Order: sequence, then structure tokens, then C-alpha cells
Amino acid sequence: MANGSCLCGKVTFKIGGDMDDMSHCHCSMCRKIHGSLFATYFNVSEFEFTAGSELVQSYVSAEGFNRAFCQDCGSVLPASNDGGEHHSVPAGLLDDDPGVRPASHIFTESKSDAYSIHDDLPQHTHYGDGDASRVVSTPEPVLSEGQVTGGCQCGDVAFEYSGAPKFMMNCHCTRCRKVKGAAHATNAFVSTDNFRWTKGEADVANYDLPEAERFGHAFCKNCGSSMPRESAGSGILNVPVGSLNSEPGVEAKGHIFIGSKAPWFEPTDDLPQWDEMPS
Ligand SMILES: [Zn+2]
Ligand SMILES: [Zn+2]
Ligand SMILES: [Zn+2]
Repeated sequence: MANGSCLCGKVTFKIGGDMDDMSHCHCSMCRKIHGSLFATYFNVSEFEFTAGSELVQSYVSAEGFNRAFCQDCGSVLPASNDGGEHHSVPAGLLDDDPGVRPASHIFTESKSDAYSIHDDLPQHTHYGDGDASRVVSTPEPVLSEGQVTGGCQCGDVAFEYSGAPKFMMNCHCTRCRKVKGAAHATNAFVSTDNFRWTKGEADVANYDLPEAERFGHAFCKNCGSSMPRESAGSGILNVPVGSLNSEPGVEAKGHIFIGSKAPWFEPTDDLPQWDEMPS
């Protein structure tokens, strides 16, 4: 048995019964929806929302695969598929250690060029019995010259930026893990002068975490994908690298807030690590 919750805390759930090993999913859908470079999921046989089920918004992709997110804060939530037999749980939402650990990488065929796998886990180009459908469901991105383009999974929202981002960081803080529903966030920081929305800016919801000085989350109102967000008046946008259609144009500097990382995830690359935010 383990508990989980979204960033705003209004949606809570508990899981139990049989739990699959976790897998790191590199499919383009997961990257867009979570805004992270990969998602980490496992399946459970028992699942129940314990609060906030009225805030759970579902998004069904073209192939009929269910996804869900919190209408209030945009955290990716567990969703049920196969007639309610399988409950897919994004591990980043967990408040407790479920005991299971990642056992494989799946959909590596669709892995981001910005991410390199450094561990020894088995890698699968797809998942299950030829179910390749989830790889190809992202709308064909429009690439414009000299621009890095990005957008949400459903295609309602799109953006672009020019030039190299100021820097890029992997963040393991609890807030980032919850809101992305992932092992960690990977964010590129882009000057507002170099950035523009090319489609659907009005379809982006903004959530400000009340107890935080400036932590929040922007997401597509239709599909729940993480979207770029300006940090209050700073002139800098925090761009979730998973939402990009190509490489971000900068290398990650390292891992921050390692002190609050998930118990089920160990970074295995050789990037520097900081317990909190380096000065
Ligand atoms: Zn929420
Ligand atoms: Zn996936
Ligand atoms: Zn969308």
C-alpha cells in the first residue's frame, strides 16, 4: 500500500495489490504530457482516489489511451485503461516508497536526443505485444529555421524560441516531481525576449502554489501537458524540455535538490549534483 497526491494536494489516491516493476518511458506522448525527458510508470491492481476525484480531468489520446491530470494544478495523475483493469501510476506523485524499482526503459525508439541512458537496465524499443501506437501520436511539429519549437501533446498549444537558453537543469525537488509526475524535471531557462507562443496561448492554465514564493505550473487546459511559464516578472521562462520538438540548444548543468530525490531513482550520469539549489 502507498499514497500519492498532486502538487496542490487536492487530489489524493492510494494504491495496492499487485504492482508491476516500474519502467522509464521515453515515448513522445509521455515526454509531452509530463514535460520531462522521460516518465516513470508502474501498473497496480488496486487503485482508489481518496480525495478530489471531481478535479480529475481525463484526456484520451487519438489511440484511445487514457491520461488524466489535476484541473487545478495540472499534475499528471494515474489513469485506468483496459476496462479499468490496469491503473497506470506516474511514480513522481508518490508520497511513500512503493518498494518497486525501475526495471527497464521502454519506447527507446522515440527517446529524446537530449537524453542519454547511463544505467544498465534493459532497453526496449516498444512495449508489450507490438503496441507501438503510443510512439507516433504526437502531431507532426512544424520546425522553423533558427527556432526551437515545442508544444503540448494534443496540439492546441505551440511555441518557439531562438538562441540558446541561459541554462538547463534537472530538478529533483518534491514540487517538480509532483507536478511532472516524473523522477525529475528538466527545465531550460529562456529569456522572454527570445520566446513567443505560436498557437493557443489562451489555452494555457497557470497555477501558482500558494505557499511558495514563486513556484507554479503552466499546462494545456485540454491535455494537461506541462507548458513554459514565466517566473513572476523575471523576464525568464521555465521551459519543460519534454515539450520540445528538437534538442533544447544547451546541455544540462547538473542535478539540483538531490536531497529530496525519489527513493526509487538514482541519477547515473556524471553531471554534478547539489543537495539543494547551488548559489
Ligand atoms: Zn492538484
Ligand atoms: Zn510513454
Ligand atoms: Zn494540449
